[in-house]
Amino acid sequence: MKQEGGLAGPLRVAIVGSGPAGFYAAEHLLKQKSLSVSVDMFDRLPTPFGLVRFGVAPDHQKIKKVTRVFDRVASNEQFRFFGNVEFGSHINLADLRRYYHQICFATGAQSDRRLGIPGEDLARSHPATEFVAWYNGHPDFCDARFDLSVERVAVIGVGNVAVDVARMLCRTKDELSKTDIADYALEALGESRVRQVFILGRRGPAQAAFTNAEIKELGELPGADIVVIPGEVALDRLSQREVDAGEDAAISRKVAILQEYAGAARRGEERTLTVRFLVSPVELLGDDRGGVAGIRLVQNELYQTADGSLRPRPTDQFEDMSVDLVFRSVGYRGVSLPDLPFDETRGIIPNDAGRIVSSDTGESECGLYVAGWIKRGPTGVIGTNKPDAAETVTAMVEDAASGILLEPDSTDPNQIEKLVVERQRGFVSYDDWRRIDEVEMQRGTQMNRPRVKFTSTADMMSELRRVL
Ligand code: NAP
Repeated sequence: MKQEGGLAGPLRVAIVGSGPAGFYAAEHLLKQKSLSVSVDMFDRLPTPFGLVRFGVAPDHQKIKKVTRVFDRVASNEQFRFFGNVEFGSHINLADLRRYYHQICFATGAQSDRRLGIPGEDLARSHPATEFVAWYNGHPDFCDARFDLSVERVAVIGVGNVAVDVARMLCRTKDELSKTDIADYALEALGESRVRQVFILGRRGPAQAAFTNAEIKELGELPGADIVVIPGEVALDRLSQREVDAGEDAAISRKVAILQEYAGAARRGEERTLTVRFLVSPVELLGDDRGGVAGIRLVQNELYQTADGSLRPRPTDQFEDMSVDLVFRSVGYRGVSLPDLPFDETRGIIPNDAGRIVSSDTGESECGLYVAGWIKRGPTGVIGTNKPDAAETVTAMVEDAASGILLEPDSTDPNQIEKLVVERQRGFVSYDDWRRIDEVEMQRGTQMNRPRVKFTSTADMMSELRRVL
């Protein structure tokens, strides 16, 4: 059958990255009525779903149910998964150009932003992203170590990741043991001596990046009291004006929740979780053994920028806070991919509504696309990736209709599979993943948990060899 754009067979698409953005892109592509599409998805890890598996907190199981949608996508006959296959190592751009009409990169944001302050690299100062990957059983971080024998911990930043980290530090062993947290993390957090957790926001309560459901949840922790300093949640003139304008009801609600916390009596729980505002770390203070012993904070005030937003500005008031462990939770950051342009400032692949554009000329790069965090930066929730991927797929379909496509040497699906096997004998198909999934769930059922995760690639591969 001849298709739009002069194609003799299906449009052959490679998607690199199997997180929500990659799966939503696949879903939109496979749903096309006027275009037959076949999708091969590659991931450097043996397991699919990216941040749904390795980012979403273990005590947020409901959010993980979105994988059912991705499972349905994967059951389409025109879909194949090549897990444990790394772009830039096992396959490269030139390889993919030989077998596909279009390539879409949905590799997320695999690194973290830096604070750029003295002491940032002291022992016991960690990117929150690593702690998250560790407790979620990411194979690259299963050997990471976090000193949970300390009592006082600071989490810098007030986004939802900071809230996740603080909440996980305050959960009881009993609560954690009902989740799919990695076994080693369950043990370590179960024995944790952490008693005081501080979340530090550089702006005021009205500008906090966390969402209302997440901050409400912090007030409902059975094992921790939430503490908010009344003076820090009393709105300054500029924030008050913003709230009074009433343009975003969620902001007024957020401020109200925080002010309620400020007035609440403590229940006397084992742990306290203090949420602070209008303070910025200027230095991590060290002990004589090169470890974190504290944070020097400067008090901020807010000012209005030309675009109307309220930004923090330091005052001359400083404060030293004693903490022994720090998680820097100031955002993820995208990582460049071999042979593709990269915007170092924003940590994204430069693009125009999903079409990758050349850094030099700004012109679209034929056949190359992006979706998700590597396209727009690390913002939004999982569902945000659906319209984001739809936008990219619209561009892909338009280009296919206009015949703006790569010219592969072969569109025979067996050829790329042959190449993958040559380069990475142990690639993981979707059926293989289903097997791993089943074993994890079975192990979970035995222990009254949603699943017990494999946390090492070697263990997953030996399980697959065992059943072959
Ligand atoms: P985020 O929402 O962008 O928050 C980053 C935080 O770091 C902000 O509070 C920011 O403050 C602060 N920050 C940045 N630079 C700083 C500096 N130099 N000093 C002090 N503070 C600094 O990022 P995220 O928490 O990593 O989350 C990433 C995305 O995933 C977000 O869209 C989030 O909603 C989403 N997510 C959602 C969930 C959920 O739905 N439960 C869970 C996890 C993540 P400013 O605002 O002042 O810049």
